[in-house]
Amino acid sequence: MLNKNDGYFGEYGGRYVPEMLIPALEELEKAFYAASSDPYFAEELHTLFSAYNNRPTPLSFAKNLTDELKGARIFLKLENLNHTGAHKINNALGQALLARRLGKRTLIAETGAGQHGVAVATAAAKLGLKAKIFMGQQDMERQYPNVFLMKTLGADVVSVPIGQATLKEAVNAALKDWIQTLDDAHYLIGSAVGPHPYPAIVKYFQSVIGREAIKQLQKHRISYPDFAVACVGGGSNAIGLFSAFISDHRIRLIGVEAGGKGSKPGDHARRFSSNGSPGIAQGYHSLFLQSEEGQLLPTHSISAGLDYAGVSPEIAYLYKNKRVEMTSATDQEALSAYNTLARLEGIIPALESAHALAWVIKNAPKMNSDKVLLVNISGRGDKDIFITACYSDPMQWKAFLKRQWKGHHE
Ligand SMILES: *Cc1c(COP(=O)(O)O)cnc(C)c1O
Repeated sequence: MLNKNDGYFGEYGGRYVPEMLIPALEELEKAFYAASSDPYFAEELHTLFSAYNNRPTPLSFAKNLTDELKGARIFLKLENLNHTGAHKINNALGQALLARRLGKRTLIAETGAGQHGVAVATAAAKLGLKAKIFMGQQDMERQYPNVFLMKTLGADVVSVPIGQATLKEAVNAALKDWIQTLDDAHYLIGSAVGPHPYPAIVKYFQSVIGREAIKQLQKHRISYPDFAVACVGGGSNAIGLFSAFISDHRIRLIGVEAGGKGSKPGDHARRFSSNGSPGIAQGYHSLFLQSEEGQLLPTHSISAGLDYAGVSPEIAYLYKNKRVEMTSATDQEALSAYNTLARLEGIIPALESAHALAWVIKNAPKMNSDKVLLVNISGRGDKDIFITACYSDPMQWKAFLKRQWKGHHE
């Protein structure tokens, strides 16, 4: 059931935007609540999810990993098997449907590493909408493969050459463009962040993860898991998984954020550490890594998806109320978990998801075999090959890139 509210989760959440955006957000909110109680919309979404997006994604008992760790039984929710390889597409397709229902013909989005941009470009292509993706010039250079994919999918990728030319500037450029095109464009936010109603909308479309998982566990004669574990960037895959369990206090909810290289400011993205503090940025009130003046601070993670200074206001609220426990995994721990899952289960996880696995690998051995651990594999690791291959054997990888370069220029 959808919980209609004013967009606040305790003190967090809300809608802190320029006055001229309020009517558009109100229109979106109205359309969203209408759609979420319209059986026709549910049917459309369900058809897209099942016939296009490969849902339900499997729930898999990780027998080899469980045997190796000799503790709790580990179940993997395989969001890596979504079309395009991660959970982001659940939300992109859902919001694209909503946009079409509102009569909008263009999807506007910003993207940092390009994962969200690819999901939006995909949804736009499928639903016959235009995609306009804003990206910092610096990010475009670093993330050329995703820029290429977005363009292949027919999206218009707009380079933002301002300031540091990364995500922050792209957000501002996208908002500016949206203000000028409100009648025709939907602004598609990619995680459970931003002004109300976005956190509620993103949770709604991602909650399919938790709903499916609960049903799939029942097929294993498990009525509830003891732990549900997910990585937390903006928080969308985590809130999607947790949504099915929040009201059932027998289940411990574990969020894992990026511990990065260490605990120095700038070396991690641990908003729930002593470096994080409450504040307002990008249209919402939540915990942020920010300076005393409220400027968002640089963050670091080996995984682009966890490399973000803000976090879902609902997760901040659930943490404050001790419903969600937050922890972190370092770059090293994530890489090690990535390798372990590949070798033992034949699944190469996204580096983001590997953070959640790192917690599992550390904690499962301390638990009895009657305990059940449910972990969300939010995405697949193919996208990370430029990082993982270079990390594990830099000489080989660089030699390969050189050969490629020569091959195309002789
Ligand atoms: C983007 C991304 C994340 C982080 O985003 P959330 O909104 O926190 O889920 C996690 N895993 C993968 C694979 C991603 O692409």
